[in-house]
Amino acid sequence: MNQISKNINHIKSQIKGAKLIAVSKRQPVEKVMQALGTGHRLFGENKVQEAMEKWLPLRNKYSDIGLHLIGGLQTNKIKDALATFDVIETVDSEKLAKGIIKELDKLSNPKTKEFYIQINIGEEPQKRGVMPEDTDEFIKYCLSLGINITGLMCIPPFEEKPDEYFALMQKTAKRNDIPNLSMGMSGDYLTAVKYGATHIRVGTGIFGER
Ligand SMILES: *Cc1c(COP(=O)(O)O)cnc(C)c1O
Repeated sequence: MNQISKNINHIKSQIKGAKLIAVSKRQPVEKVMQALGTGHRLFGENKVQEAMEKWLPLRNKYSDIGLHLIGGLQTNKIKDALATFDVIETVDSEKLAKGIIKELDKLSNPKTKEFYIQINIGEEPQKRGVMPEDTDEFIKYCLSLGINITGLMCIPPFEEKPDEYFALMQKTAKRNDIPNLSMGMSGDYLTAVKYGATHIRVGTGIFGER
């Protein structure tokens, strides 16, 4: 068995039914093909353009691929994103939400069926995401526009223990009756699962360094 298959199987055995999003950003297609060869079908990319180039050809061959956008979305890329991703995890502003609903209204059958809200859980100035205290209101706003919000996502501060941030995410999801929680990366996915992550996003832990 190749190393990528071993990594995927090992991680899946540890996460108790949470879904593993294999983050394939900046990884060569050969490595992605190895993951597909093991039967893995759920992937994450952080850039719309890169995802289209890599995945549109592969989708012709593997019709059951699931693709999540996990990087920030610019309003001029909304149309492409809605045609490419099954889930957009990074809804984080009223401007973006309005742009999404405007494009959705034009499409009869968009690829994207679900949207998550990105929360800036550590309130870090350099990170994108809705501030924790604004989250409840923002969820209601998106739902009122007609955006199908089914999850919350975060990237906690790198230098700190993530426990309190994951716990806050879990509380926020419960309070708002949101079923999906996308949190946990290569270094902290076991902790994320403890706090109810339904989706973990692992890149280097599967594919090696980028
Ligand atoms: C790159 C990335 C990941 C994966 O990070 P690793 O440390 O390589 O596992 C997860 N989430 C987001 C939002 C990312 O940009």
